[in-house]
Amino acid sequence: MSAATKTSAASRRRGGARPAGEIGAWMACAAARVTACLAACAATPVAACAATWLAACIGVCATACAAARAESPAGAVEIQGFSSGGAAAEMQLEQRFDADLSAADLRSWMEQMSSEPNHVGSVHDKANAEFQLKKFREWGWDASIETFLVLYPSPREISLELVAPTHFAALLTEPPVAGDSTSSKIKDELPAYNVYGADGDVTAELVYVNQGMPDDYLELERQGVSVKGRIVLTRYGGGWRGLKPKLAYEHGAAGCLIYSDPRDDGYGAGDTYPKGGYRPSDGVQRGSVQDLVLYAGDPLTPGMGATADAKRLAIKDAKTILKIPVLPISYAAAEPLLAALGGRVAPAAWRGGLPLTYHLGPGPAKVHMKVLSDWNQKTLYDVVAKIRGTQEPDRWIVRGNHHDAWVFGATDPLAGQVALMAEAKSIGKLARDGWRPRRTLVYASWDGEEPGLLGSTEWVELHAAELKSKAALYVNSDTNGRGYLGVSGSHGLQHFASEVARDVRDPETGASVLARAVAKAHIANYESGGHANPSGDLDLGALGSGSDFTPFLQHLGVNSLDVGFEGGADYGVYHSAYDSFDHYRRFVDPTFEYGVALAKVAGRLMLRASQAQLLPARESDFAASVAGYDDELHKLADGMRVKTRELSRLLDDAAYNLAADPRNPRAPPPRAAEVPYLNFAELDNAVAKLEQSAKAFDKVYARLEAIDAPGADAARERVNATLTELEQSLTDSHGLPGREWYQHMVYAPGSHTGYGAKTLPGIREAIEERRWDEADRYIGVVSRALNAYSARLDRAVSIP
Ligand SMILES: [Zn+2]
Repeated sequence: MSAATKTSAASRRRGGARPAGEIGAWMACAAARVTACLAACAATPVAACAATWLAACIGVCATACAAARAESPAGAVEIQGFSSGGAAAEMQLEQRFDADLSAADLRSWMEQMSSEPNHVGSVHDKANAEFQLKKFREWGWDASIETFLVLYPSPREISLELVAPTHFAALLTEPPVAGDSTSSKIKDELPAYNVYGADGDVTAELVYVNQGMPDDYLELERQGVSVKGRIVLTRYGGGWRGLKPKLAYEHGAAGCLIYSDPRDDGYGAGDTYPKGGYRPSDGVQRGSVQDLVLYAGDPLTPGMGATADAKRLAIKDAKTILKIPVLPISYAAAEPLLAALGGRVAPAAWRGGLPLTYHLGPGPAKVHMKVLSDWNQKTLYDVVAKIRGTQEPDRWIVRGNHHDAWVFGATDPLAGQVALMAEAKSIGKLARDGWRPRRTLVYASWDGEEPGLLGSTEWVELHAAELKSKAALYVNSDTNGRGYLGVSGSHGLQHFASEVARDVRDPETGASVLARAVAKAHIANYESGGHANPSGDLDLGALGSGSDFTPFLQHLGVNSLDVGFEGGADYGVYHSAYDSFDHYRRFVDPTFEYGVALAKVAGRLMLRASQAQLLPARESDFAASVAGYDDELHKLADGMRVKTRELSRLLDDAAYNLAADPRNPRAPPPRAAEVPYLNFAELDNAVAKLEQSAKAFDKVYARLEAIDAPGADAARERVNATLTELEQSLTDSHGLPGREWYQHMVYAPGSHTGYGAKTLPGIREAIEERRWDEADRYIGVVSRALNAYSARLDRAVSIP
């Protein structure tokens, strides 16, 4: 799987504080820039627009100052958590780290690891784990393979045919394409399927339901179309794949097909493979449909490690396995089905890129689908490697990526995995030359991520107690390619991640990857009418799900980051057999230099977090983000109240009936009850307290960071002990409503978005779904979590 959807960060910002140490340098730089800008402003003839010009100048100054900081010589650079002497030593260490990274290594490892299908249970999946184990050991790591036994159904027989009004049998495999050497190596490949759907043999009328999300069913109801007993045809997009069959089942459907519309990642997006990098007509997006928003990992062992002797649920009792059969299909397979549908023409927004008129059905198209699987267990091979810290061995900095793929998996996941391996090789070299980390480094290569974050989740569940006391940070990557650095994660790490980005160069432009990412964000904000983050830092998106950070962050409450480059590759073959080495070297990262850049970013995150005298944190960034989320909740409830009243007025006035087309009637939307005024006082007070505590904490942090004197060691140890476990204050052992596995009260995958994040999810989802008592209850739960967080910050910096 790939990285989660980000929530907009610009809207949540109330302005983060800048630690005292940095202000001096910034002020001096800004003073010079402002003088220059003012002179330029004065020279413009547009006197009436002076204020606008000034504001623009200040924006330019902030960016220029950030860039100037990045240009300063190595020894003068500030690094969060380090004294100036410590920072200089760290910069030297990082230069040695960089020197051993090689694009040729990444290329050869990827070529080897993507040479055969490497899904869970395949021969090559195990071989890749053993290859990595050998490498880690060769590089000087204390490495081993941990195995788990998980339920992994694989298809024995699948078929799909149109049986009326004409006959058509769909091709469910992906044929070889010219110039792609692995596309013909299909001996060990599984057919394209969606793991954790149900077995079934169904013949029924077809209905087109767009993306199969809740609003789509609302629209169908208004159009008078029912999916009961029918097979739904959905297209990818709009939300987590697994929600499509889940919602179809909840609306009474008997089967679910999911196709890739060419508008999204086929010829509507760019030239198709092998001419370009986008999905060809027979390309299929495989993927898990496990009900991931309930819990991640092995469906039979929720909350515990899937060791050989673990107590297991019966398959029928596993809540994350779906109840109807599901198949993913190509647009070549979907086109005759769509063409055979009658009924009304689909709403404009539901139409895709195929050359036909999209109809809703039901029928006269009738299809027969069959999915029969072997419901047996497979072994997972997680590779875990450690280098023990010398001074704080019981604080772990953990790095992970997955090594299993749907088929060959060059981009997803190996592009991230080979960067991780390059980091491990280079750190191993440092260790062989006598260097040792201050804190323990843990490098992990997960198996079974694609079916449902299995390898990471089982490992986290098995080692939960140890991780809760030791894991100070988890750094994840998954896919990677040409483009811009994206970082999402715990908001207190925003400045830490930005400083790392400041110190890594973009391979093609030579600018810092921070400057490019910030410039792109500023332009996007400008063009969408939003407000740019003036700090010059990255805007960290909140994490939902879709990769291995989920068990760390949302189950245990471990500080987490997810990193990768994206946005510059011609990539439209997600979860297809065409995600291959040949595709990657032509369209994703031909020089492998963005892989090296990822190793530089993630390696620095790891080295700095392991070496700094203070663990990375700027709590005012976290507080500002939470304050922004609180604002959003107020606006959400207020906005819904206004819209609900407006709708009631329209219904009272029979406006929908009057405006309806008598020949194509469409029922009015259902009436909703008034939105009550919620009492946000407890939450608002908790946020205000958090902002104060964070500010006070950051002040002491900056003081402790600046001095090397051993007298401050006890105070620093108190701060580090706090920061190691701080994020856990945000968890609640009862979890979210109906999904107790998800315990983080600030970040969760949305119940109806899946990969997409919901922040302050207990409150936000209750409001969205009009469960007012639950919203009230979670205002209390979230406020208590935030207060516990503030109290820990206060204790960490108070005089004992
Ligand atoms: Zn992946």
